[in-house]
Amino acid sequence: MDLDLKDKVVLITGGASGIGAAIVRAVVSEGAVAVIADRSAQQANDLQTELQAAGGKIHVVVCELTVAENCKRVADQTLERFGRLDALVNNAGVNDRVGLERGNPAAYVASLQRNLLHYYNMTHYALPALKQSRGSVVNIASKTAITGQGDTSGYASAKGAILALTREWAVELAPYGVRSNAVVPAEVMTPLYRSWLQTFPDPEEKLAGIVARIPLGKRMTTPNEIASMVTFLISGKASHITGQHLFVDGGYVHLDRALP
Ligand code: NAP
Repeated sequence: MDLDLKDKVVLITGGASGIGAAIVRAVVSEGAVAVIADRSAQQANDLQTELQAAGGKIHVVVCELTVAENCKRVADQTLERFGRLDALVNNAGVNDRVGLERGNPAAYVASLQRNLLHYYNMTHYALPALKQSRGSVVNIASKTAITGQGDTSGYASAKGAILALTREWAVELAPYGVRSNAVVPAEVMTPLYRSWLQTFPDPEEKLAGIVARIPLGKRMTTPNEIASMVTFLISGKASHITGQHLFVDGGYVHLDRALP
């Protein structure tokens, strides 16, 4: 299937690692230009070097996305460099475990800043270019928005707001032909997931308990499986899909708990 992404410009926040890096690889393999906005300079530059050596087109903006002006800089630099933007993938985030008991009001606001505000800010600053290209937005959310997790009020509420904004933006942007969708991962092995596991007394036991409850294949979702959905959603093949929350999770969130 030709996804018609050749030379399209795709901006991916948090594109240096984990799910974001898989999205970068996927869109570059389709011939798109990937712009990575990430604070991890070394990882972003390594990925750029690797993909460029294989003929891929990739640009890196090293930045801390919690600063609103940096989101503007990312959008401005993308336009200056490439003259267009076809898709924005809001992906950067961290399950920072700011809970009711362990957290406090200031920590809660900081968590929203890490997980929510830059989704709005990036989309706000990218919008003129997206309107021009009749492009699309994909927001990476989390199952915690639906299931809760405990001890992570900031992250869970940010992800819930991201699902609401996905639909809100689908409505606001429909007149411009700009689509907005969310992809909802549950359990994906990435550096972030690994460090979350390390917060438990026995990470291996915790992991085994989770994997045993994933209906399809009793295994984690791979970053590439999330990336495939994102790549499809930003392509013309998804031209009548907007306002959707797509769960790529092996049935983890929705299937019958009584499954063997
Ligand atoms: P990851 O491996 O930590 O990759 C995220 C990348 O984004 C890292 O390079 C990180 O840099 C960067 N980043 C994070 N916050 C940033 C900020 N404020 N400014 C600039 N760069 C920032 O994480 P992942 O597991 O791929 O997660 C990607 C997305 O999927 C997140 O939104 C996460 O909530 C969501 N998600 C993941 C899972 C899962 O199972 N992995 C499940 C549900 C949802 P640092 O390394 O410096 O932090």
